[in-house]
Amino acid sequence: MTLPNWAIDELKRMPEYFPSIKDRMEAVIRFSQLNIDNGTGGPFAAGVFERDTGKLVVIGVNRVLPTCCSSAHAEIMALSLAQKKLGTYDLGGPELPAYQLVVNWLPCVMCYGAVIWSGIRSLAVAGSGPELEDITGFDEGPHHPEWAAELRKRGIEVIDDVLREKACRVFHNFAEQNSLVYNSRQGKPE
Ligand SMILES: [Zn+2]
Repeated sequence: MTLPNWAIDELKRMPEYFPSIKDRMEAVIRFSQLNIDNGTGGPFAAGVFERDTGKLVVIGVNRVLPTCCSSAHAEIMALSLAQKKLGTYDLGGPELPAYQLVVNWLPCVMCYGAVIWSGIRSLAVAGSGPELEDITGFDEGPHHPEWAAELRKRGIEVIDDVLREKACRVFHNFAEQNSLVYNSRQGKPE
């Protein structure tokens, strides 16, 4: 569970607080572009912030290829690093402020589950439609048709459609580079 050196350096230079949701998403989308620019993983980033103050905990990026680990998605990286930093397995635990996960698209089925397990109280995504899969070719898995309602039922706020176009531009940049789409079995059944 380590971030690439460029991300560690970037995080040191970042402001302590990101007051608006757009500021937070802007920083996350920038990390998704930097991850492909630096060749350190897929076009995905996710940040954990204090929901009410915007205090940054950490921004993680996708690390599947460099770590040889299919579960090293940006959301898993961000949630795990935040929990390690804060010394808790439950970001929704007592005495803690509410935490928000900000992601440059709707989390895949694995990460959707990780959101529920993490204790996060708010999920903000750039978009949740078919654009990500259509543009890049990644297979995000079978999302629950009521994915947002299921999160809200568990006390997790859902904010959709934050800087959607900007997020899609990074997916287009990734697709134009002809980068490896690291689906298992290249997305084929056999
Ligand atoms: Zn994922």
